[in-house]
Amino acid sequence: MRSFSLPLLAVLLSSNLAFANDIVILNGRVIDPETMFDAIANVAIKDGRIVAITNEPITGDETIDATGHVVAPGFIDTHYHAVDIFATKMALRDGVTTGMDLELGAFNVKGWYDEKEKNGWQVNYGTTTGLNLARMAVHDPEAGMSAPADFSVATPIIAKAAADGTPGWSVTKSSIDQMNQVMQILDEDLRQGALGVGAGVAYMATGNTSYELFSAQKAAANYNRLTSVHTRYHLNQDTPTEAPIAFDEIFANAMLLGAPLLMAHNNDYGWWEIEEKLQLAREKGLNMWSEYYPYAAGSTPVSAAFLRPETWKDKYGYKYEDTLYDPIADAYLTDETYAELVKNNAGRSVVVFFPYRNEWMPNWLTMPHMTLASDAMAGVGDDGELLPWDADWTEYRGHPRTSGTRGRTFRMAREQGVPLMFTIAQASYWVAKHLGDTGIVAMQERGRLQVGKIADITIFNPETITENSGFKVGEHGIPTTGIPYVVVNGIMVVKDSEVLPVKPGQEIRFPVEPEGRFEPIVVEKWLNKHTIGLNPDLLKIHLEDDSGAGKLLNSED
Ligand SMILES: [Zn+2]
Repeated sequence: MRSFSLPLLAVLLSSNLAFANDIVILNGRVIDPETMFDAIANVAIKDGRIVAITNEPITGDETIDATGHVVAPGFIDTHYHAVDIFATKMALRDGVTTGMDLELGAFNVKGWYDEKEKNGWQVNYGTTTGLNLARMAVHDPEAGMSAPADFSVATPIIAKAAADGTPGWSVTKSSIDQMNQVMQILDEDLRQGALGVGAGVAYMATGNTSYELFSAQKAAANYNRLTSVHTRYHLNQDTPTEAPIAFDEIFANAMLLGAPLLMAHNNDYGWWEIEEKLQLAREKGLNMWSEYYPYAAGSTPVSAAFLRPETWKDKYGYKYEDTLYDPIADAYLTDETYAELVKNNAGRSVVVFFPYRNEWMPNWLTMPHMTLASDAMAGVGDDGELLPWDADWTEYRGHPRTSGTRGRTFRMAREQGVPLMFTIAQASYWVAKHLGDTGIVAMQERGRLQVGKIADITIFNPETITENSGFKVGEHGIPTTGIPYVVVNGIMVVKDSEVLPVKPGQEIRFPVEPEGRFEPIVVEKWLNKHTIGLNPDLLKIHLEDDSGAGKLLNSED
């Protein structure tokens, strides 16, 4: 009605249309995990919200016939590096209504939200503040960081940060001054509404001391917000770098701080131990959970610390030619091409195969509160550059999880006999529940198919939904099928399996606060607080330990 130019006519009409719905979804199987509602019903949407779920006939400006389809709360992705327009389009075909990179996060969070608001976005968006990026700003001034940054622009930044021969953010331990600078960046981003702190610790396993990681978790805990962590060690079952030990590091910190914790992609060695501990933590009332993505292959920048020969080859016993695939070159790496790529294109994303995951995967599909998160990668083409919105699906070069995570999970769940209610909880409800419980209001209103909640809705055919993407060139970005309609904030974004050029995405963010909460670490203050102060020199000696804390506390600056 907005286009009517005659005010009188508009008034006359609006009296009749006061209760007209924007969209009605008819005869679908409506599933809501929070209330365990599962029945055929009609759903009405108006002004961005669900206003009715009923068996009565209803009408609206637009009608979706959902016969034979499930009407589910829109899928929420907490591990979504695909923060660019083409990858977002792939995600929409996969049923995503909210996509957030809580692992790597962003730098300059205020600017990041400002840009998204200015340009508009197709799905709901939010971010953590990124510890890796904050360390880049402090340790790699040559990276020239000041503009907002996230994974979509990370490739050249990672390369720049390594251009002087040392990726300082990855390998350099912070002095107290540097650590304070890093924490100040995190605090400012948290003040600006970041959803928590994201820490890709494996990428800086030797540079990021345990004390700095503890401090980063404290920075988030100061605001009662979560830390999302890619743990320091994984892919490994040898002590002392056994995967769950790295989990224990962040787990103990979060428990002591009483802070929420999201274990990023728990699809590696020791996942069973980690899930058992997370279940115990939840029984104690702690807000902690993990994610999985349903692939026996990962994807990561080629310069990742754990891929270096001394770790990947010498310690883990892998060969590059068996495990590392460059989707852009469409070839497995060799010792030579690996070294070349690290030198010339440190930020290039490669695919890493872990065949043993196939045996574990059926368990993840049945693990309560383990949420589905794609770890989707940026939407780049064969030149490594971001693709335009209207690029062909076949042009995408990257991990097929970017386009197929939900299609693949629902297809496998169907074959495995997992109840739809359960998989929808993994894809939508538990994500919203845990995030909402950290205080994010926008998440308390999503992930639920209930009257009054925000109308983020994914409509799929449970019998046919499937991924179509694969690891061969040309197949990486072929979209999921069986999800003909996706509604974001009451606006249809996918219609008849086509992505429409509309941008109804809203920010997922904490309110901006007037004051930061940053308190620098000062040696004298620390000693006054934690000792009785009789012999500080002796204490300094005892603080010399492997964590790096002693070195920090004893440093002169
Ligand atoms: Zn990761």
